[in-house]
Amino acid sequence: MEKSRNICILAHCFINANSKVEGPCRYKGVLKPLTYALIERDYGIIQLPCPELTFYGMRRWGHVRNQFDNPYFRNHCRKLLNPIILQIKEYIANDYKIKYIIGVNGSPSCGIDVSCVSNTWKGEITKIESIDTLKRDITYDKVPGIYMDEFMKMLKEENIEIDFLGINEKDIDNYDFDKLL
Ligand code: SF4
Repeated sequence: MEKSRNICILAHCFINANSKVEGPCRYKGVLKPLTYALIERDYGIIQLPCPELTFYGMRRWGHVRNQFDNPYFRNHCRKLLNPIILQIKEYIANDYKIKYIIGVNGSPSCGIDVSCVSNTWKGEITKIESIDTLKRDITYDKVPGIYMDEFMKMLKEENIEIDFLGINEKDIDNYDFDKLL
């Protein structure tokens, strides 16, 4: 049997929802419609490390992009992505195709087309008078999350072109994977 020679790179939590911030989640373990679509099309799957879990652990709060937009978190992202870049280079050099890097739209780290942004989401949590007021400051801006931003830059530095695909988990049942993948 011939290998498919086609690979997709996935944000960690698409196949392990347990890595997400504590609280309600849209799926229990694996985002099945996306993962099944990849399996049916014989893609090999590379799972990215989760940058937030490996920086803050499981007791982290939900953050916004502005909080991660600092040299420490960006450096952390680069360290995680370095071995992935090496894998990508090796696959491409040997006639394998990396079809997509698939991220989580809305995430401050893994968003592709949009990520959640707020300039006021910071400070001593016990001194915050109204969480509702803070929540109203959050917007979903057309910028990638910090992890994906660094990934895009690192690929550019290596002159590698791979398409990024942002998935909005809320709309997962409305995607036409026959057209997308
Ligand atoms: S940082 Fe990325 S991989 Fe980790 S839980 Fe958030 S969206 Fe998923």
